[in-house]
Amino acid sequence: MAELPRSTGTQRSQTLFQTANQYIPGGVNSPARAFRGVGGNPLFIKRAEGAWLYDEDGNRYIDLINSWGPMILGHAHPQIMEAAREALNFSSSFGAPTEVEIDMAKKVVEMVPSVEKVRMVNSGTEATMSAIRLARGYTGKDKFIKFEGNYHGHGDSFLIAAGSGLITLGVPDSPGVTKGTAQDTLLARYNDLEHVQELVEQNKGEIAAIILEPVAGNMGCVAGSHEFLRGLRALCDAEGIVLIFDEVMSGFRLSPGGAQQVLGVTPDLTTLGKIIGGGLPVGAYGGKAEIMDYVSPAGPIYQAGTLSGNPVAMHAGLTMLNLLSGDAELYNRLEAVTAAFEIGMQERAHAAGIPLTINRIGSMITFFFQDGPVRNFEEAKQSDLDAFGLFFREMLKRGVYFPPSQFESLFISDCIRGEELTLILQAAEETFAVMQEQRG
Ligand code: PLP
Repeated sequence: MAELPRSTGTQRSQTLFQTANQYIPGGVNSPARAFRGVGGNPLFIKRAEGAWLYDEDGNRYIDLINSWGPMILGHAHPQIMEAAREALNFSSSFGAPTEVEIDMAKKVVEMVPSVEKVRMVNSGTEATMSAIRLARGYTGKDKFIKFEGNYHGHGDSFLIAAGSGLITLGVPDSPGVTKGTAQDTLLARYNDLEHVQELVEQNKGEIAAIILEPVAGNMGCVAGSHEFLRGLRALCDAEGIVLIFDEVMSGFRLSPGGAQQVLGVTPDLTTLGKIIGGGLPVGAYGGKAEIMDYVSPAGPIYQAGTLSGNPVAMHAGLTMLNLLSGDAELYNRLEAVTAAFEIGMQERAHAAGIPLTINRIGSMITFFFQDGPVRNFEEAKQSDLDAFGLFFREMLKRGVYFPPSQFESLFISDCIRGEELTLILQAAEETFAVMQEQRG
């Protein structure tokens, strides 16, 4: 039977982190990678393959982050790598239209139920910023509603109770966002339709859009309830508000058509990212043709990008989407292995007397160290962060790489199968025993 890898120390990662701090703010290029919420310093990764990450010291870890979502088929998938390599033979960028962009747009339209036209960008942040501008330009209104604990990238108007890395760092809102910008962002409680109705009533005729993660991953995994999502759809229809589903995380992850396909609620606009690039920097926004035709140069709303629709990224991303849509069993496998993970963890935590609430939908899952339930940001924040920190460090020592924050979703890849799951659950059992001992 395979054994859990034992760490041989992380000296080289420590040294690299010291050097990184001299040249890069906080030593990392994105705060979610820092280990500030769990103690210790981040590991520096050298390579990855399948289910495994390898650090600069030669340790290996089962990866439960998977680049925060994109690596749904595991790392270095041979066909995706080959597609990128082949594309590179023809140059890395043209700044002119390519056929593969049409193939990609057609594929997205085929896969995502509500999308009739789509525009490629380079990140999820660009996708959400552009979608809000479009909704404002289309409706001629300024305000929009977002939800506490939902993260939509680092655009100014979204950095208000934005979840994700901001909670871990203890900064609910970012300095640098002007009052003028913030005043057009209205904040609502997730899964609380009445609160949204009140806000709409108080700002009658002024709201351009409601944007949300239909399944939130950025306060940990918290799914929008059916009544909530259906209620938002009806409210938007009645009030002429554009409903935007931010499916940067859930798109292509929960099903070929994302959360909207699973939950049966159709937004007007959808933002996409992560999986769509197969690990390269891609984002997209799309939706009803009537709205999308307001985007420049078809319409007056300006949005552009030097590297948008980059050929290497398009070939890698399209190969990813073809693999996802071509494998009828993929989402069933992801569901089965993540369900087994959930049950295995619940049993072991229960046996050790560790309070644990598990939120899961498909291959997105979060273990909240509390009794629960967790349906919104307030409830997510009740988790025992010290317990999570200890859990994270003990799992890492045993070769299992969790997201370094309580307020993140795990993303299970198709390379996590029975053998890897056995190793993860063995590590968890040992870890819960350590936690039980420390609780006395
Ligand atoms: N929207 C959601 C739901 C996200 O989870 C993220 C990133 O995690 C973004 C937007 C921003 O995407 P990016 O980091 O590619 O800018």
